[in-house]
Amino acid sequence: MKHKQQLIEAERQKLEQEQKAILDDIQHVREWLQGEVDTDVEEADPDLTEREKNLALLITLERKLESIQTALRAIEKGKYGICERCGKPIDPARLEVRPDATLCLDCQREVERLARKTSLRQREF
Ligand SMILES: [Zn+2]
Repeated sequence: MKHKQQLIEAERQKLEQEQKAILDDIQHVREWLQGEVDTDVEEADPDLTEREKNLALLITLERKLESIQTALRAIEKGKYGICERCGKPIDPARLEVRPDATLCLDCQREVERLARKTSLRQREF
């Protein structure tokens, strides 16, 4: 069990470092976006794509940050590596690749399948 604790501690440090790096990135992108607010409309075209790229990046970063924070909360609660949906342990190999995973592979697939089904249904309307 001690070995597992050490692994979780190492994971927590990794996640915290990642969280810090992402917060820095978010800060930079936000500053960039704020600096661009007063851009001349006439010349906005090439900047617009830059802006869109940065907005998309910001969304990606914020999603990533969210999943890292979810993982950190799970560690605090002593539930790291436990699937949120079915309560079974998540495969350590999966956690190695996705330290912020909160679902086991089976549940992840199931959730993705349901999400696809939902979006298909929405497209019908
Ligand atoms: Zn599960």
